[in-house]
Order: sequence, then C-alpha cells, then structure tokens
Amino acid sequence: MDCVFCKIIAGEIPCYKVYENDDVLAFLDINPISPGHTLIIPKKHTLDISSVDNETITKIMDVVRILRTRMENKLNIDGLTLIQNNGDAQEVKHLHFHLKPYYKDEKELSVEEIYNLLKED
Ligand code: AMP
Repeated sequence: MDCVFCKIIAGEIPCYKVYENDDVLAFLDINPISPGHTLIIPKKHTLDISSVDNETITKIMDVVRILRTRMENKLNIDGLTLIQNNGDAQEVKHLHFHLKPYYKDEKELSVEEIYNLLKED
C-alpha cells in the first residue's frame, strides 16, 4: 500500500518518534504549525474517523493524555489543540490526530531540541 504513514510505521521513512506502543505511534509533524506539533496514528491502517473502531480511538486518546502531560512538563506548553481531518480536508489518508501545542509567548526551538525534550526517557 502506498501510504506514507504505513512506511513510517515500517521504518522505511524516518521520523522523530516521540511515543510508541503495540498499537499506536506518535511522531513530530514534518511541517509544524507550532513547536512540538505531533501526529498520533494507529499502527493498523485505517482511513479516518468513520472507519476506526472505538477500541483504537481509546488507545489513541490514552496517548494524547500521555503526550499532553509530557508537553506540559518538557515544553512548558500553555495549551493544546487536537485536530483530526477527514475527507477533502485530510491530506494523508491514514487516520491521524494532530496535537498542536499552544504557547502564550513565542517559542524558538529547533526540531532536534524538541525531539530531545519530548522523546521517551
Ligand atoms: P492532514 O492529512 O491534512 O491532516 O495532515 C497531514 C500532516 O502530515 C501534515 O501536517 C504534514 O505536514 C504531515 N506529514 C506528511 N508527511 C509526513 C512525514 N513524512 N513525517 C511527518 N509528518 C508528515
């Protein structure tokens, strides 16, 4: 299947991986809207919010909470916006949730600095 996120899961395309378990992977967005912009995806290929099962959604939301706490502790975020695109609004046709950190003050951090702060210890 010609899916860029399946290739990331398979290790065929590199990513800045910040979280992984048996079912879910999280990595930094290649084109961040704000510092620490992260994508969370299920490892099993599925298109969008209508095709995913509830168990997988729960597993993804567990990772949202883990990463929110980590972003608060490591990146000092002041808020977090969750985005999930479908249909023509969705560019990559593998379900993903965007975690877009919000900062009261502008943040200047390189992708390596963010990755080193956010990756699992
Ligand atoms: P969308 O499908 O519109 O919800 O957004 C897809 C997101 O995937 C965009 O924010 C892209 O910057 C991001 N993206 C696409 N390819 C990669 C990649 N190889 N590594 C990390 N992020 C990616």
